[in-house]
Amino acid sequence: MGSGTTLVHLEGIRRVYVSAGETVAALDGIDLTLNEGEVVVMLLGPSGSGKTTLLNVLSAMDSPTEGTYRFRGDIVPSAPDALDVEPFALPRPHPLLSPPLWLVERVVGLVLGVVRWPGRTLAERRRAKALEAQAAFRRANIGYVFQQYNLLGDLTVLENVMLAQEISGGRDRARAKHMLAKVGLEGLEQRFPAELSGGQQQRVAIARSLAKHARLLLGDEPTGNLDSETTQQVMKALLDICRKEGVTAVIVTHDEALTAHATRVLRLDSGRLHSDETGGAGTLVGKGKHVVKDVLDTAEDVVESVRRPVEAAISGGVNTAKALGAVAKDIAEAARPKRKE
Ligand code: ADP
Ligand code: MG
Repeated sequence: MGSGTTLVHLEGIRRVYVSAGETVAALDGIDLTLNEGEVVVMLLGPSGSGKTTLLNVLSAMDSPTEGTYRFRGDIVPSAPDALDVEPFALPRPHPLLSPPLWLVERVVGLVLGVVRWPGRTLAERRRAKALEAQAAFRRANIGYVFQQYNLLGDLTVLENVMLAQEISGGRDRARAKHMLAKVGLEGLEQRFPAELSGGQQQRVAIARSLAKHARLLLGDEPTGNLDSETTQQVMKALLDICRKEGVTAVIVTHDEALTAHATRVLRLDSGRLHSDETGGAGTLVGKGKHVVKDVLDTAEDVVESVRRPVEAAISGGVNTAKALGAVAKDIAEAARPKRKE
């Protein structure tokens, strides 16, 4: 496989959390390749199996404890966990020794703190820099759809999309409108979120997440708040826009029925990839439907793009003919021998 076709490559990814002395491997050795051109990858698995953690690693919101993550061939920046020990924390003495050792403890603590201080400051700086690099990676490549649509109520639909563009580099009104049209919201650009249904709001959120040229769209149960019919509409819009924009979406769901909209279905269990299958939209029949739809869409676009110039030419032609007629009439009038009365 050529390196140009690989979008995501995960190798031996582990994510271990330590909380209250307990160690949990949320991801326990994930190897996964997603190719450019894969459209909707559904991620299923029981609660606690690591789905959210995997999305967080993919978006560089979280860093793997072990393993490598490459995005289009480049290593994705990762940051070490925050230091959870106070810079001047003391080693704790035995409780019986505590009172007599109080002063010694303070002095030793202070000395240790001073000695450790430069190293810690350096580590904190390094971490801050890594977090900054992760944020830059996200801004450039990742779109995210949340279960709560997170639209700003005081901004119109179009403004919500354009604000997201502005945050990640620059407004592009035409593209914002184009993306809204692609999720079926043409004509609703000037509405406020409260004037839309839940499904329409989620479609705004999808358009917003892609309005800045993201390559990878991530969603953690984005249709979890919607009824089943609206869910179908939103998933269709998602599959459609991702296909047309060449975006790969990785969507977490509990809903088996949604695998009909997936080109690939991954199942996680206890932090491991447990199965990897073709989804309903990845089968020949599923692809065939889209080919037919694409042909029809393209035909519509062609008709639309030809209609206007033809109309313009016809109306232009009529006007030109009228103008020529008028000129001819004037010439004939001027050339007519003047009869004397
Ligand atoms: P899912 O999304 O599949 O329900 P998660 O990825 O949220 O699963 O969590 C996987 C495992 O990792 C769970 O056991 C969870 O308790 C643990 N976990 C997730 N995040 C943290 C964290 N920040 N600190 C400690 N444990 C965590
Ligand atoms: Mg989760």
